[in-house]
Amino acid sequence: MTDNAPAPGTTPTPEPTPLTLLGTGAMGTALARTWLAAGHPLTVWNRTPARAEPLAAEGATVAASAADAVAANRLVVVCLLDDASVGEALEGADLSGRDLVNLTTGTPAQGRSRAAWAEARGARFLDAGIMAVPPMIGHAESGAYVFYSGSPELFKEHGETLAVPAGTRYLGADPGFAALHDVALLSAMDGMFAGVLHAFALIRREDIAPTDFAPLLVSWLGAMAPAVHTAAEQLESGDYGKDVVSNLAMQVAGNATLLATAEEQGVSAELLTPYTTLMERWLAAGHGDEDTTGMIELLDLRQ
Ligand code: NDP
Repeated sequence: MTDNAPAPGTTPTPEPTPLTLLGTGAMGTALARTWLAAGHPLTVWNRTPARAEPLAAEGATVAASAADAVAANRLVVVCLLDDASVGEALEGADLSGRDLVNLTTGTPAQGRSRAAWAEARGARFLDAGIMAVPPMIGHAESGAYVFYSGSPELFKEHGETLAVPAGTRYLGADPGFAALHDVALLSAMDGMFAGVLHAFALIRREDIAPTDFAPLLVSWLGAMAPAVHTAAEQLESGDYGKDVVSNLAMQVAGNATLLATAEEQGVSAELLTPYTTLMERWLAAGHGDEDTTGMIELLDLRQ
């Protein structure tokens, strides 16, 4: 028995999987540090070499080209600016036999076409959407996670390595689903921040400290958030009149107060009016007794 052999009856701890990371920008660097800290042999490449150098001091091997970095390991993680930069960086690389994981933000269609592109070059492929900012990476308590979709075999084999920087949520074989979930959540966030900005604009010129107002906003948004579940149930049942708490007619009447207050306070209503206009259109179509969820019909350009 050698010194490294496991004691009889115990399972040997697997060696950390070696991997390659293309892209050491803000996000790539945060990811890289977690794999290095967990003992994974890591090869990195960055278009601007100076941005990869700090990682060399921390134990990473810096490859001279993207093709060299891809050749170094079977598992290749890509975290570049956008889909075009992924195509550019991987242009001369031999992907056959590689497991390519794309953490670059993109659209569902880009995820699907990048999957077909990778598979045509002999690679298994997972697309991903990172639900975190760099300081959250490597801190399990931050709630950081990454959506993955694409090759189930790849996810099964490398799920543990992928879970080192952030939690993992696998969404199935359709390589467009990770981006779709990512972008849907980000789009909801945009709406929320639009509302937050408008609310701060309303109080801005009054004797109200934003830091006193902020906790009120946070708790109000938290109290309203569970309405998302009601909307989901209405969508699944197709009944927009189910469990209505505040019907559309009442909400449209309330909007007049919101818009009048914006005017009184000298605040542009441009962040509110797209939503209030949609509500008025749905009310005019005869849905005053229902919830606002039915307005989804007005957004559907495919019908
Ligand atoms: P950075 O701007 O910090 O880094 C961008 C990276 O892409 C750099 O490595 C850059 O190389 C590289 N790059 C850009 N264009 C090309 C190209 N044509 N060819 C090769 N490499 C290229 O961005 P982040 O690291 O923050 O973001 C990376 C990905 O992570 C993005 O898709 C982003 O949407 C996603 N993401 C980022 C979050 C964040 O908060 N930062 C949050 C969630 C997702 P170079 O150094 O040479 O310019």
